[in-house]
Amino acid sequence: MKRALITGIAGQDGSYLAEYLLDRDYEVHGLLRPGSGDASDPSFWRIQKVRDQLHLHAGNLEKTRDLEDLIQAIQPEECYHLAAETFVFHSLEDESAILKSNTQSTHHLLLALKAHAPNCRFFFAGSSEMFGHAPEAPQNENTPFNPRSIYGVSKVIGHDLIRYYREHQGLFACTGILYNHESPRRSTRFVTRKITSTAVKIKLGIESELRLGNIESERDWGHAKDTVTAMYAMLATDNPEDYVIATGRTHTIRNFLERAFGELDLDYEEYLVIDPEFYRPKEEVPLVGDPDKIRSQRHWQPKVSFEEMVREMVQSDLEYFQRMLQ
Ligand code: GDP
Repeated sequence: MKRALITGIAGQDGSYLAEYLLDRDYEVHGLLRPGSGDASDPSFWRIQKVRDQLHLHAGNLEKTRDLEDLIQAIQPEECYHLAAETFVFHSLEDESAILKSNTQSTHHLLLALKAHAPNCRFFFAGSSEMFGHAPEAPQNENTPFNPRSIYGVSKVIGHDLIRYYREHQGLFACTGILYNHESPRRSTRFVTRKITSTAVKIKLGIESELRLGNIESERDWGHAKDTVTAMYAMLATDNPEDYVIATGRTHTIRNFLERAFGELDLDYEEYLVIDPEFYRPKEEVPLVGDPDKIRSQRHWQPKVSFEEMVREMVQSDLEYFQRMLQ
């Protein structure tokens, strides 16, 4: 039985990955922030279904001692580093906290693995935010990085750390450059789930409008279930390499709205309010990934279509809110 360690196991990707690995008979270990409650905490709803099968540990990614003890005890064969601070506030303290937390956690994990499990295969969750204001579209593994957020900067540094440990320290470490990926487990802070949950609440008479920013923005949206299979495929080889993980197709927020409301036989235009509070300028160059490398080298391709994904998200929210109302 193989052992895997997942940081960020209670998040969208961590929970799908845990299920995927359990299905493959892995012993799955997850790292939880100390003080984040035990596995029965309601904030762990995404892993409730499988929590009895998981080995959950509390540990601070910023403390080398915690990580060293954990890695020494678990001896993982695979490690998926998905945990990261994403929320960008606009103060100096918050920026430096995000930068420090994201870069230190990656560095400490790599150090601990080198010392105590040097044969462990390491996956790092990069982001299309590393390309930021990209010089070209679609972006591929050779496109220069030009992040426009501290989160993006922290992911570029993480990617450099990965390359350093791979090329100069002999670790099997690689970065998946992940484009947006959604699911019923996405937080409602993101526009897709904000739309599906609000559309359902409108249908059920709990809300009367949906306030959004720029609906002409476009994203390369995949399903998180497909994204985690790409992570797995990247470690299931003897050659550690970095890959763009994307669908290669974009849709606008407007396309998403039409589909989501359409699923409920509603016309989004009757409920949409454009609110400057949520407005962000449209990117001059769209963030869309070219998945050719992972498709040809790792034989990966997304299985869930955009239409199926939107339908699943709407249906899941519908079931959830109908249950709440009973
Ligand atoms: P991310 O910006 O790629 O991390 O993902 P989001 O889901 O937060 O945003 C995707 C796109 O939706 C961006 O281009 C936003 O400008 C656009 N958008 C429009 N209205 C909203 C909104 O109300 N909330 C959010 N989060 N995004 C919005």
